[in-house]
Amino acid sequence: MNDFRELIQKYIKEVLFSEDEIQLRVSELAERINEDYQGLEPVLVAVLKGSTYFLSDLTRKIELPLSLDFIAIQSYGAHSETTGAVKLLKDLDEPIEGRDVIIIEDIIDTGLTINYLIRSLKARSPRSLRICTLLDKSARRLVPVEIAYRGFEIPDVFVVGYGLDFEQKFRNLPYIGVLDIDRVVEDFYG
Ligand code: 5GP
Repeated sequence: MNDFRELIQKYIKEVLFSEDEIQLRVSELAERINEDYQGLEPVLVAVLKGSTYFLSDLTRKIELPLSLDFIAIQSYGAHSETTGAVKLLKDLDEPIEGRDVIIIEDIIDTGLTINYLIRSLKARSPRSLRICTLLDKSARRLVPVEIAYRGFEIPDVFVVGYGLDFEQKFRNLPYIGVLDIDRVVEDFYG
């Protein structure tokens, strides 16, 4: 996977959300968070690495004295499938007891990963805990997830860009595109 432009031409089937569409929606979410957390100092917990572009744009539109923390987890599964088995790679730096926590996710698919996170964070007694996800692939949900802030609902396709990867590639696309995953797997792993 060397020539980036060639990769995009070959494997990105379509642009699902352009840079402008993303920015507009992120502004709307930030406005709602501004209203809901007036007078509060929320902690935004970003799930590494996929949510970093979203976090960066979102927080610059939030006008609250917020703090940031990061958590990294590894979901097991081949290529694009989660199995539900999750390993904590990096924990939060600070305790969240008594804090108003917003989890910032890139995408919720089966819901298994976020479910693990919620259980882990709830056990630390935050004052409140809400989920903010850029993308929601609800058609594939295996466990119910209550989402307070949702960027876009998407169909059952594999997306990359704006932080989302395939095997660590494509995160730096400025838009969200649909990856031709069958073709990638066939060409590189077949
Ligand atoms: P879940 O546990 O909800 O099934 O999966 C969540 C994780 O699977 C996400 O954080 C992400 O890492 C990965 N994932 C699920 N669907 C997609 C997708 O369409 N594109 C990318 N890049 N990752 C996905």
